[in-house]
Amino acid sequence: MQHSHTPQQTDQTYCVRHPDTESNLRCGRCGDLICPRCLVTAPVGARCPSCARIGRPAILDTSSSELSRAIAFGAGAGIAGALGLGIVLRLLVSLPFIISLVDFIVVAGGMAGIGYLVGEAVRLGSGKKIDKRLKYVAAGGVFVAWIAVAAWLPLLNVSANFMVGIQGIVGLIIAFYIATSRVRI
Ligand SMILES: [Zn+2]
Ligand SMILES: [Zn+2]
Repeated sequence: MQHSHTPQQTDQTYCVRHPDTESNLRCGRCGDLICPRCLVTAPVGARCPSCARIGRPAILDTSSSELSRAIAFGAGAGIAGALGLGIVLRLLVSLPFIISLVDFIVVAGGMAGIGYLVGEAVRLGSGKKIDKRLKYVAAGGVFVAWIAVAAWLPLLNVSANFMVGIQGIVGLIIAFYIATSRVRI
């Protein structure tokens, strides 16, 4: 009687990307074995990560370096805008006369301008990607700008009340709106 030394056939199969994870699920496009850790659910069924990327427009994929650049650009634009607005307010309070509502218009209008700058900086920094996270980056940049103006004004001997008063809050809201509308989702 002869013994077969052929290893026993098993139906155990393993994920291509996670060789220690047993799986019998296959990518619907290339047929690679995939597991719950790496499968991507596409409208057409389960896909492996490589196949899931194919056919997806590059504009929808923001790389981590593009995201970091969007954050850096947004914060940079916010701080640059804040420095400019602080100087404009310094000049305004130096005027020998007071025109009513001008401080409101300057603060709200200045913040609106900062919102535009921040939104554009985030959009360009990301490589004009379409990504919901960019809205948060833009809103964050506006908030940084608002804080920066409030911190900068006392250094210029101007009251920070300009930013925490009604005009500052209205300006902040307008800036949030404008900045987040610049990026597409
Ligand atoms: Zn595949
Ligand atoms: Zn896997």
